[in-house]
Amino acid sequence: MRPIFSTHLLASLIGLTLAPVALAADSHGADPADSHATPTKKSSSAPGKDIAEQLRIAVENGDLRKKRLTLVSTGIDRKPLDAHAPSTAPATPPFMLAAATVNPQASRNYIRAKAAVLTGYTAPEATNDEHAHAPHWSYEGDGGPQAWGKLKPEFNTCATGKRQSPIHIEDTVTLQGPAEAIQINYQPSNGVVVNNGHTIQVDVSGDNSITVRGSTYKLLQFHFHHPSEERINYKSYSMVAHLVHRNREGQLAVVGVLLDPGLANSLINKVWTYMPLDAGDSVRMPLGLVDLNELLPKDQRYYQFMGSLTTPPCTEGVLWMVLKQPVTLGRDQLKLFGQLFPNNARPVQSVNARAIREAQ
Ligand SMILES: [Zn+2]
Repeated sequence: MRPIFSTHLLASLIGLTLAPVALAADSHGADPADSHATPTKKSSSAPGKDIAEQLRIAVENGDLRKKRLTLVSTGIDRKPLDAHAPSTAPATPPFMLAAATVNPQASRNYIRAKAAVLTGYTAPEATNDEHAHAPHWSYEGDGGPQAWGKLKPEFNTCATGKRQSPIHIEDTVTLQGPAEAIQINYQPSNGVVVNNGHTIQVDVSGDNSITVRGSTYKLLQFHFHHPSEERINYKSYSMVAHLVHRNREGQLAVVGVLLDPGLANSLINKVWTYMPLDAGDSVRMPLGLVDLNELLPKDQRYYQFMGSLTTPPCTEGVLWMVLKQPVTLGRDQLKLFGQLFPNNARPVQSVNARAIREAQ
């Protein structure tokens, strides 16, 4: 499993984690009358004593505002600093709770949780490396698509599934007729661009959803493949964007937007601007910059079928809607993505006995 966060990001996350400690000390120092300001007076025994004593002096001198408090935990004494304070003492101030958190695993979990909150993306547990001896899944070589189903037991469906994606859609076999329009509700939202080593993905937070077949699906993320995974009437497109949604029941719905060279696309320009070049890195985009309306074609008729995730574990039961009208991206935009990901498209899979609706 590749690391998801760079050292820089982790360092900054740790910095963010510690920041409230200093802020808490500042806010208490700002009001000498605050009853929380003197809980350490009776601290008497060993390890916390020096820190407590320094804090007390700093509080009494009223000079905390000028200082940045640095807490160094040795991991020897895990008791709160005011463990010896009388029971009538005020509740433990926030900065002391922070100082007491020295369990390394708890700290790692906290940093992961904090990272997930900050990025909307959960890094895989380090323990996922138990399969480190097996090749990691990829788009070529030993870990390529032909091998996905054998890499891990949980990837079995990649080999045995009967409703896998992507597929080759031929108009001669589609069921043509009336179909409901996809009700699309996208608005300017916040995004975090993630380079996960397989693609560029934007994790989206905001009020974005589609309603189709009587169910509303919330947009989670969108990502790109080069070339397009879908093939339509024997034609591949230069790229495809997959917009991944989930409804309350946990079912997934993916909207596919085909991309061919032409005029530059404004949303892709924004995503590429913040795109991290290293696998495992992620970048938070400025607020409100992500508007998926900029990626949609005018004509939103579509092909609809049941399929799967196109990456391991290839889970089935995914509702696919591939928009028939492609949109354009600039040649420079295409070139940049192609340099990073020369091929991140799974080959087409058997249609088997699947029905494909072609909305007229
Ligand atoms: Zn995809």
